[in-house]
Amino acid sequence: MAIIASNFKTNHTRKSTASFVNEVNEFLKSNDISNEVIVFPTATSFDEFETVSNLTIGAQNAYAAEKGSYTGEIGTVQLDEFGIKTILIGHSERRHVLGESQDEIAKKYDFYMSKGYKIIYCIGEPLEVKESGLDKTLEYVYEQFEGIDTNYENLILAYEPVWAIGTGVTATNDDITNVHSAIKSRIPKPLLYGGSVKVANVREICALDGVDGALIGTASWIIEDFKQIIENTKDL
Ligand code: PEP
Repeated sequence: MAIIASNFKTNHTRKSTASFVNEVNEFLKSNDISNEVIVFPTATSFDEFETVSNLTIGAQNAYAAEKGSYTGEIGTVQLDEFGIKTILIGHSERRHVLGESQDEIAKKYDFYMSKGYKIIYCIGEPLEVKESGLDKTLEYVYEQFEGIDTNYENLILAYEPVWAIGTGVTATNDDITNVHSAIKSRIPKPLLYGGSVKVANVREICALDGVDGALIGTASWIIEDFKQIIENTKDL
């Protein structure tokens, strides 16, 4: 059973998110699809969505606090209001665009682990590291596990090479299987691939050894494409 996750990033409004979530929900229900589907909308679009048990709404980010003086952030008090118990941590845009350090990421991870959240934890190397070979890539990726308790039972990993995110350039099947098999041999957790996954390649990627599903940005924002992505992976 493939895990298919959609990261909205800074896209969609409350209205379009509600219609997206309802449509995915109806699609899963009426086609009796058992994929685990997770949608990460913007925090402004959270709502009390009624969903089937295999559709979950998660937070793209939140602060490592229940509440407090953290201007611009949200904590678990705000997530609780919508029953959100799933969070994305370590996404490359948080690391490389928003400047989150490994130390901050590890603190956030610890906090949400202590609260029992399902954590989708992202790792992945930038282009210059990829170009220096597989050993360097793995070294870089393993450093992103510093301070992270990978024995946590509610953990899903997502390998997302930075050079493949939002670029239209997907990693090759060999790139993916090499990195996935190495990570899996150290950390036996569900492992998603992310980086320019789309309707045309999602099935092939999710069928690779060591790939348990996909974390998808751009190609998941159009509802028809996202439904097709789920359809293309429903029997994996
Ligand atoms: C992502 O944001 O996690 C991602 C993989 O984006 P994209 O699918 O656009 O590459």
